[in-house]
Amino acid sequence: MNAPTPVAALAPTVKLLIGGKFVESKTKEWRDVVNPATQEVLARVPFATQDEIEAAIASGKEAFKTWKKTAIGTRARIFLKYQQLIRENMAELAALLTAEQGKTLPDAEGDVFRGLEVVEHAASIGNLQLGELANNVAGGVDTYTLLQPLGVCAGITPFNFPAMIPLWMFPMAIATGNTFVLKPSEQDPMVTMRLVELALEAGIPPGVLNVVHGGEMAVNALCDHPDIKAVSFVGSTKVGTHVYNRATLAGKRAQCMMGAKNHAIILPDANKDQTLNALAGAAFGAAGQRCMALSVVVLVGEAQKWIPELVEKTKTLKVNAGTEAGTDVGPLISCAALSRVEGLIERGIAEGAKLELDGRKPTVAGFEKGNFVGPTIFSGVKPGMAIYDQEVFGPVLAIVAADDLDQAIEFINANPNGNGTAIFTQSGAAARKFQEDIDVGQVGINLPIPVPVPLFSFTGSRASKLGDLGPYGKQVVMFYTQTKTVTARWFDDSTTSHGVNTTISLK
Ligand code: NAD
Repeated sequence: MNAPTPVAALAPTVKLLIGGKFVESKTKEWRDVVNPATQEVLARVPFATQDEIEAAIASGKEAFKTWKKTAIGTRARIFLKYQQLIRENMAELAALLTAEQGKTLPDAEGDVFRGLEVVEHAASIGNLQLGELANNVAGGVDTYTLLQPLGVCAGITPFNFPAMIPLWMFPMAIATGNTFVLKPSEQDPMVTMRLVELALEAGIPPGVLNVVHGGEMAVNALCDHPDIKAVSFVGSTKVGTHVYNRATLAGKRAQCMMGAKNHAIILPDANKDQTLNALAGAAFGAAGQRCMALSVVVLVGEAQKWIPELVEKTKTLKVNAGTEAGTDVGPLISCAALSRVEGLIERGIAEGAKLELDGRKPTVAGFEKGNFVGPTIFSGVKPGMAIYDQEVFGPVLAIVAADDLDQAIEFINANPNGNGTAIFTQSGAAARKFQEDIDVGQVGINLPIPVPVPLFSFTGSRASKLGDLGPYGKQVVMFYTQTKTVTARWFDDSTTSHGVNTTISLK
């Protein structure tokens, strides 16, 4: 008799997308996609072979020959259709996302929606990709620019926004005339693949969008391959720094959005109720697994007395599976993430921070195997403690104290990260001073998670970002195109002849 087939072997396999076809990988290396609330194996994801990665890039290179010549209006209309398809499938996409990632269903819809906004933006590519023209820069001479696509571009995405971040990347790359190879997170690739299916349904031609799965080997192959012209990465600082160095050394453009430690300053004149609501939502939403999560609160002066109320408000948050109505805080992505976060909480206690609220090992009826840790709050946190120095990426809030606004700004500017920050105050003068003096790329004023809409670009800074140009908005049009400058003169019979000109000047 045969040995019983393990459950994982029965789970469906996630496919590669090469040349417009969803294909089964021939690899021998597979990893389970696991529901973080139940440990159920939902699917198996392949780590693509070198040949498969090569085939995906070759397919993008071939498709580029025709895609780059496809009219801009035709490209735009595909994204008009695509945004409609995403809207029509929103509930299914959110359910898939919650099953494999863990976040609550409403937050999963938010994840899809923030990506959908970029798709809508891609539909206006006709306006975004306009060049410049200067008329008559010398006698009968005009100069104008063409924003031309680069070729095959690659995207590497993290687990925490498996809808939004792939949608930051391939729609704008493809709308600007490039072809694309996407490498989603191996931890939750299923909703990404459903979005990719919808993109093909919207009319993206074979080979224009390709998908490979895997880890380090796949990422290195994309960074090294001479036919990949640009690499977009979102993920941890360690991996992003590696990707940036490797891709730029190979002569490519690279943009890497990386880890964070986002601080909020609370001045005593802030609206207390609104502020405490905002802090609890931004620190513990998505179980703290957002690159823009608020993980440090700097309480200034009298605002230090607000800790008990923040703790009481936080205690009302409900920890449960993301599928359950009324859940505020879902599970962490993996068992490994759970033990890492629990370990950091233990270190926080050992290193002398005051544990104001302990979220470890919550009881979650019906989901006893889930990777849950409840909201946790430390006060008296200082640089040098692991819970301050590291990105916890879990529902753990560190509180520090400052005497005044100047001291609070200095404290934040001394932290190496620069993804996001916020101030809560009723003083316009204080808010303006903060926006001018803070050395962080995205600033919120009475708004805890200041992720810009796609009319603007995502502008994290310092250790949170490598590369000048950010995702979406105007910056990404520059990232995914090269500017060609044309200087032109047309002669007719009335054009005066100046004879041979051996100087550099235009006459
Ligand atoms: P990660 O760096 O572990 O993984 C990101 C991608 O890199 C994945 O596709 C993964 O397969 C790949 N990868 C992992 N290890 C690799 C290696 N050794 N070599 C090459 N590739 C490798 O990040 P994650 O845990 O999936 O995501 C969480 C991190 O992403 C957090 O640090 C978070 O702050 C950051 N993040 C940043 C932003 C931003 O915009 N700044 C947005 C979302 C997430």
